Amino acid sequence: MTTVVVVEDESDIGQLLSLYFRKEGWSVHVAGDGAGGLEAIRSRKPDIVVLDIGLPGDMDGFDVCRELRRHSQVPVLFLTARDDEIDRILGLEIGGDDYVTKPFSPREIVARVKAILRRGRSTATGAVVEVGSIVIDRQRREITVDDRHQELASQEWALLEALLDNRGTALSRQQLLDLAWGVDWIGDPRTVDVHVRQLRRKLGEQLPLATVRGVGYRFG
Ligand code: CA
Repeated sequence: MTTVVVVEDESDIGQLLSLYFRKEGWSVHVAGDGAGGLEAIRSRKPDIVVLDIGLPGDMDGFDVCRELRRHSQVPVLFLTARDDEIDRILGLEIGGDDYVTKPFSPREIVARVKAILRRGRSTATGAVVEVGSIVIDRQRREITVDDRHQELASQEWALLEALLDNRGTALSRQQLLDLAWGVDWIGDPRTVDVHVRQLRRKLGEQLPLATVRGVGYRFG
């Protein structure tokens, strides 16, 4: 389960974020100051931290992030109310991943958090491929196009994975059959064309799946 720690002293904002994050099915813990935030991060090991900069007590959000970076690379999304704070965030000397300015819409924060988590996963495992508005999560076997879920038949998945494993390389129909259907499969190589048409229909124009004349197909 995705776990989020929110460090924010304004309780109405904390509650609002909590509500929206829980709607996504995430586990949320809200801390009201920097020390409580660091403690929550240590104990809950979140996937992401949403960190307000203006905090009561000894530590502001910058201090919290700096302290955090001594032992953790957890992504941090800053909440900020002031332009001069943005300058410091963009300087990135403290290692934040993104920021949202107050006042904000909770939806925007949810979208930012999702984008950061996707980036994190894709760099960590290579399991998530993003092309335009198509997001292919190979580990979870999920595809979204423009944030809408798209179902693929198992053979369409197999074909797509074969293409993804060989990004940038043109593959013949026979090679694709061997990779996606297995070398023992006997049948018409035009089966590949039928499935390619399905992939193009389901994933749309942005799918970088090229027909290579005289050879077959290439992804990317
Ligand atoms: Ca605050």
